[in-house]
Amino acid sequence: MIELVGAILAALIGIMIGINLNKFKIERKNLKRLEKLNHSYFKGLNYLLNDDSERAIDVFIELAKTSSETFEPQLALGNLYRRKGEVDKAIKLHQSLISQPNLTEDYRTKALLAMGKDYMSAGLLDRAEVLFTELVEIEAYTPEALYSLCEVYQQEQDWADAIKAASRYEVVSGRKMTNDIAHFNCELAEKHLLNNDNKNAQSYLLSALSTNPKCVRAKLIQAREFRESKKWKKAIEAYHQAIEFDDVFASEYLDDMSFCYAQLKKCKLFKEFLLEFIQTYQGISPVLVLAEIYKKDDGIAKAEQFVEEQLVSKPSVRGLDLLLKLNLQKNAKNTDDVTKFQVLEQLVNKLLDKKPNHRCRKCGFGAKKLHWQCPSCKSWGTVKPIYGLETE
Ligand SMILES: [Zn+2]
Repeated sequence: MIELVGAILAALIGIMIGINLNKFKIERKNLKRLEKLNHSYFKGLNYLLNDDSERAIDVFIELAKTSSETFEPQLALGNLYRRKGEVDKAIKLHQSLISQPNLTEDYRTKALLAMGKDYMSAGLLDRAEVLFTELVEIEAYTPEALYSLCEVYQQEQDWADAIKAASRYEVVSGRKMTNDIAHFNCELAEKHLLNNDNKNAQSYLLSALSTNPKCVRAKLIQAREFRESKKWKKAIEAYHQAIEFDDVFASEYLDDMSFCYAQLKKCKLFKEFLLEFIQTYQGISPVLVLAEIYKKDDGIAKAEQFVEEQLVSKPSVRGLDLLLKLNLQKNAKNTDDVTKFQVLEQLVNKLLDKKPNHRCRKCGFGAKKLHWQCPSCKSWGTVKPIYGLETE
């Protein structure tokens, strides 16, 4: 509401300044028309301030139909309605602007672009696609229309057309879309893997890696496929390459790596890798994975001692949780100790349960699990593990 009122006030001030600057030049007739315009704005603003959104939008729609002087603020107002989730109002307002008989082509195109975005927000993807496809042909708006068209294809999960639109957008705008295009290829690879079409899936993964040679996701899909077909050595190689590209997602697959090393009976090698990795990686996951291996190979006491030592330099609630679990197992026969540790462990679990452990680095969206595309801002590869005391 504050944003809406702000937009209206800005528009109003604009109109008042216009009146003052030109007051000696404006004909009496024009002055009367502007007074009427101001009156309409005050009326609409009054409705907004009194939380009567329905009547306010009626006033603004009427204004949009008749006056092109207020085109820009009206357009912005429609966009604000869309962002607030009131898409029906945004569509009505933008439609009214388009219906103005004397609107310039430039303004009409701007309003059509805005309405395409309204359709997209309303889930009317077919309509949005038709609109943006037409607008791509208008040279001055080709980049913006192509970008929006690419967004429509993503919502439709039409990844092949999303790749085409993004590639064309790169050419006309000069902006790189390599990260997004690599993810579209990964989506296509996943789709083919679901249909057991391994050959085409591999080809899309190679495309992803040729578009973005450091595409962690493509490497991790390859690693998963090698692991599932029991090609342990190749899976391990792929996981290590993923870490070399960017170790930020390591917490997602260290357990899988551990499993592959175990199948080859090379746990010693994996332990050496983890000990080295702990020195550079900022999270707690390698400590937890290594502690589990120590527990299995050398017993609970060794695992406990290792976690205690690591927690000094890497304080972590997840580390504390493992320490409590180890103590519970160690003192399983002592009823008093078990009760004490159980209470503590339950408390720690409650604390961990409430916290998101992934966050979008672009918009701040918090999630329990990894999303390759942020569910909120729709960016690709921006949701990453949170590093800190209560998380990774
Ligand atoms: Zn986001």
